[in-house]
This record gives sequence, C-alpha cells and structure tokens, in this order.
Amino acid sequence: MIKKYILYLLCLLCYGCSINVGIDTSKDSKQEQTTEQNLKLPNDVRWITNSSEYKTLVKQIYTQAWENIDALAFNTINSKEQWAIIMDLDETVLDNSDYQIKLFENNETYNPESWSVWVNLKEAKLVPGSKEFIDNVRALENIQLIFLSNRMAKNLTPTIENMIALGVYAEQDIFLLRENKADKKNIRRDEVTQGIGRMKDYGSMKVLAYFGDASHDFPEEDSQYKFGYNMFMFPNPMYGKW
Ligand SMILES: [Mg+2]
Repeated sequence: MIKKYILYLLCLLCYGCSINVGIDTSKDSKQEQTTEQNLKLPNDVRWITNSSEYKTLVKQIYTQAWENIDALAFNTINSKEQWAIIMDLDETVLDNSDYQIKLFENNETYNPESWSVWVNLKEAKLVPGSKEFIDNVRALENIQLIFLSNRMAKNLTPTIENMIALGVYAEQDIFLLRENKADKKNIRRDEVTQGIGRMKDYGSMKVLAYFGDASHDFPEEDSQYKFGYNMFMFPNPMYGKW
C-alpha cells in the first residue's frame, strides 16, 4: 500500500514538472520574440520605448517645470488676469511610440490616414511625469490648462476619451485642435493671448508657460519666455521637421 502511495506521489510530481517546463518554455520564447522585435526597432523608437534614459529625462523636465511653475504662480498670478498654461499633446503629454512601432512593422511611414486611425484607437500612453505635473497644475488657482495640438479638430472626441482613460482630462480644459492646414499653432496662440476667434468667449489670457516637443510649439522671439524657465522642450527623435 505504502509503495503504491509513493509511486502515485512520484507520478504527480513528474506530471507537475512537465507542466511547469511547458509553461516556462512558452514564456521564454515569448520573451525572446519581444526582445528580438525590440532589437529590430530603429534606434529612435527603441530609445523612447526601451531606455531608462528617456523616462528619466522627461521626468526631469516635468519636475523642473513644476518647481518653476509653482514659484511663478506664487509670484505672478493675481486674480485680475486670467492665466493659462499651453501644452502640446503628442510626445509632450501623450506617448504615441506604439504608432511608430506599427508603422515600422508594416514598413510604412507617417501618413494622415493611418495617424487618424491610430488616434481613434485611443491607445496613446502617457509621457512619464505628465500626469503628476498636470495634477499639480490643477491644484493651482486661476490657471487654465489649454491643450494646443495639431491633432485634427474632428478627432477631439477620441482624444478626450484617450485622455480620460489616462486620467489627464478635466471638463474645464480647453482644446485648440487644428481645423485645417492653414490653422497653424501661432494663429491659435494669438487667439489665446488676444481673446479672439475660438477664445472669444473666454477673453484674453496671459500665458505662464509653454510645453512642447517641436519649435512650432513655442512663441518666437519673445523676451518674456526662456527655455528651462517658462518654456519646456521635450525630446522626440521619432519625427519632426528637421
Ligand atoms: Mg507634439
């Protein structure tokens, strides 16, 4: 009887081992596949998706920005004027590196159609540090967050839904998305500071700081603004007008 029992236990042990070996092998091969895929990605996309340096750098920018904004808000903001912080979305708040991976896998380059499909998937992730920064800004009084992005205005709803899912949306936010090709960012910046066009109902606002990943996200030759002080540039080696 005891012999039979020991034999039964041995069988169970062997069966368990065979299952474990099976699971481990599939895990290993999945890991190998992912590593292989990552190794094939172009350096720019791999740096954004895989490096600790990218995450550290963008968190560093947001940490520095918050220290400055907190001090600026304390010293500058008064209730007589309406103040705003203008933030770009893509590669500033939203991380679209998965779109770049899809392009690479399909041997494609950027095109407005596939970009629109991507935006409607609502799968953008957060640039590290952006949510913490936005949460801090929301706690300040008399600051309006304006998201000024070249996402097309027709894609406002999926953009908002993506941001709701990521926890970076509030009802009082203003979105100034692109209406058409001629609707450049400087036109929308002027609407904010002059209280015209889409900003007519809000009135003119003073801009405390700008955030973006491209030169066109910032005002040109304005001595009130300095990079690292009240303008913050984020790294984006994946695309741009260079
Ligand atoms: Mg951008």
